[in-house]
Amino acid sequence: MTHHRLKGIVFILDGLGDRPCAELDRCTPLEYADTPYLDKLARLNQCGLMDPVLPGLPVDTHTGVGILFGLSPHDATHLSRGPIEAAGIDLKPQWGDLLFRANLATVEKDGDHYRILDRRADRIRDGVIELCQALQELKVGDNLFASLFPATQHRCVLRMRGPRLSAEISDTDPTGKAVHKGILQARSRNSKDENAQKTADAVNEFTRLSHHILSRHPLNLQRIHQGENPANGVLTRGVGAYRDFSSTLSYLRIKAAVIAGESTILGLARLCGFTALSDPSFTALPNTDLRKKLDFAHSALKTHDLVYVHIKATDTTAHDRDPAAKARFISHFDSVLEQSDMEAHVIAVCADHSTDSLYGEHSGDPVPVLLHNPVGRQDLADQFGEKTCSMGALGRLNGQGFLLSTLDAMGCLPNLKPSDMTVYRPNG
Ligand SMILES: [Zn+2]
Repeated sequence: MTHHRLKGIVFILDGLGDRPCAELDRCTPLEYADTPYLDKLARLNQCGLMDPVLPGLPVDTHTGVGILFGLSPHDATHLSRGPIEAAGIDLKPQWGDLLFRANLATVEKDGDHYRILDRRADRIRDGVIELCQALQELKVGDNLFASLFPATQHRCVLRMRGPRLSAEISDTDPTGKAVHKGILQARSRNSKDENAQKTADAVNEFTRLSHHILSRHPLNLQRIHQGENPANGVLTRGVGAYRDFSSTLSYLRIKAAVIAGESTILGLARLCGFTALSDPSFTALPNTDLRKKLDFAHSALKTHDLVYVHIKATDTTAHDRDPAAKARFISHFDSVLEQSDMEAHVIAVCADHSTDSLYGEHSGDPVPVLLHNPVGRQDLADQFGEKTCSMGALGRLNGQGFLLSTLDAMGCLPNLKPSDMTVYRPNG
C-alpha cells in the first residue's frame, strides 16, 4: 500500500505572538481579532505554542524563518545578512567569497579617516547601477578583488573574492557594533588572526579606492551641482562567508517555494535552494496584496510540495506599537484565508517569533501555532489564540518540531530514520 502524501502550505505571520494589551480589553491582538475561520481550523485540528529556537530566547526574523525553512538551529542562529542579501539579488557567489551588506553613503575624507555625513546618501535611487559598475574587480590586496552590486535604493552587496578571507572583522557602518563613531574603518576582531587582519586591510583599501573613484564620478559631480549629497562612500556590515546551507527539505527532496515581499526572506529562500516568488504589491504593511499572495500560492502548489507564504504586516504594526492595527490586519488575513479554498492541503499557521506591541520589540514568548491536517487528529483548543493554544495537543514545541510535524502530516517522513542527524540535530 502506498502511503498518503499531501501538499502543504505554511503561513509565517511575522511577529504574530503578542501580549495582552490594555487597549484591546486585555486580549492579545490575535485574541482580539475577528478570526472565525482560524478558530474553525483550530477547533477541527491541533494547536500549540512554539519556541522558534529555545524557550525565552527572542530571535530575528532570519533566524526564526531559517528554522522553519529547515535549517539546523546552528545554521539558523549563525546566519549573516551579507550572504542572504547576496542571494536576494541573485548573485551567484563562490565558496569562500565574503559577502557584505553595503550602503552607498556620503562621506568626507579627513586625513586617514572618513567622516560619515549621510549613511544613505539621500536614499539615492538613480544612478546606483552606474556607480556600482565603476566598482568592479578592484584590487584590494594580494590576489584579493572587490566588486559592488546594486540591491534596492542605497543598498548594495559587496563581494570580496580571494584566498583565506575571514569574516572575523568589524563593520564600517556605524549602525553595526565595534565601530569608532564616525570613523569608517574595519578592524580585525582577533589581533592574532592574520587572515582577519588581511581582510580588514582589504576592506579599508576598498573604502579608500571606492571613495577615490566615486568622488570623481560624473554622476556625483552632477549630484553636487544639483545640491544633493554625493554617493561617494561605501559602508559595510553583516559580513559572512558563502557556503552551502543544507535544509532538511532538500535532504528529503521536498520541493519548496516561498512567497514574500522582503528581500531577506527571498534571499534566505534562494540560499536554501527554494523557488522565490514575489510581486511589487507584496509590501511589509497592512496594504499588502494578500489575495495575490494566495493566488501565487495556489499556482505554486501545482509544481511544489510545500509553499511558504511570509506576511510581514503583523510584525511591522507591532514594531509601530499599534496593537489595534495588528488585530485589524489579522482579521483581514482570516477572511482572505477563508476564501482561498486550501483545506485539501495541510495548512500550518505560525510565526518566526513573537513581537510585543507594547514595547515594539521582539520577545522570547512562544508563538501560537495551528496545524490543519485533513486526515489528522483533533484536540481541545477551540480558538486560535495565545491562551487557547496553550491547551493544544501540539503542546510546547520548538521550530524544528513544528516543521517536522507539518512534514509528517504531509506524509513526507515515512523513510526517515530517527537517527538521521541531518534531519534532527537537537544540539546541532
Ligand atoms: Zn521584527
